[in-house]
Amino acid sequence: MAQTINGKQVSQRVKDEVREQALKLHEQGITPGLAVVIVGDNPASRVYVNSKKKACSEVGIYSEEYALPQETTQEELLKLVEELNQKEDISGILVQLPLPAQIDEKTIINAINPNKDVDAFHPVNVGKIMIGDYDFLPCTPAGIMDLIAETGVEIEGKNCVVVGRSNIVGKPMAMLMLHKNATVTITHSKTRNLKEICQQADILIVAIGKANFITGEMVKEGAVVIDVGMNRLEDGKLCGDVEFASASQKAGFITPVPGGVGPMTIATLMRNTIKAAELNATKSK
Ligand code: NDP
Repeated sequence: MAQTINGKQVSQRVKDEVREQALKLHEQGITPGLAVVIVGDNPASRVYVNSKKKACSEVGIYSEEYALPQETTQEELLKLVEELNQKEDISGILVQLPLPAQIDEKTIINAINPNKDVDAFHPVNVGKIMIGDYDFLPCTPAGIMDLIAETGVEIEGKNCVVVGRSNIVGKPMAMLMLHKNATVTITHSKTRNLKEICQQADILIVAIGKANFITGEMVKEGAVVIDVGMNRLEDGKLCGDVEFASASQKAGFITPVPGGVGPMTIATLMRNTIKAAELNATKSK
């Protein structure tokens, strides 16, 4: 039976560290500040934005919310991003995705000052991650690295399988595992023999957005299983991409949903905002 990796506990530790760093910055006259931009009325986005604002107030990061109507044009959003790029009391800018169809997400991400890009989605930051010389790490993969560290399992030399290849989770995740000397396989919807590939994974990271897709028979005995998925079932309950009941019979360590990866994503965002405040303070000297 697997040990559950407690994301709430680990994220609390990260937030405690961030609170101390925020205090130190305040003492130096630097105010870490996060602007959270939400366009439209996507209920899931609203939940994420509220959690991010709450975390800011917990750790002593100043936050501003910009809630724009669904019909906002790309030009209007670009104008706001440009204002936030210039604003001195804003260290980090987060534009909650997805955006309404009339707005091109890439254009917006590219407009964010890379030094304020606390999601690490800007091509400059993506490139830096690729070469292993980065200021920010994307929140979900970085949080997962902390969760794996928590297990005490050595990454170097292990087989790591990442299921899903999104720019937000799968691809950067694979890159971080590669930097730690894992042998990495990235799988996706066109992968053949997914079951057999997953069965080889010492570390299995799943980010596909399909409820209970990975079952116990796809998990190697003793593996570390990280479930990124957040799927809302018909009864309103949240569930992961991994079938917890069967996978936890095989895994050595497993993250629950909720209470696994989700809280770490937010804690890492707080960490990135501190980093951004430091970076922008240095740049403005
Ligand atoms: P995307 O929809 O952007 O990507 C999904 C990926 O899964 C794609 O690469 C897709 O392959 C792959 N995929 C889909 N079906 C299969 C399949 N049958 N077999 C193998 N691969 C498959 O999703 P995200 O990466 O943004 O998110 C994934 C999940 O993680 C979602 O549930 C999301 O809500 C959650 N999430 C949770 C976060 C957290 O903080 N806990 C943060 C971010 C996301 P292809 O490329 O071929 O289409």
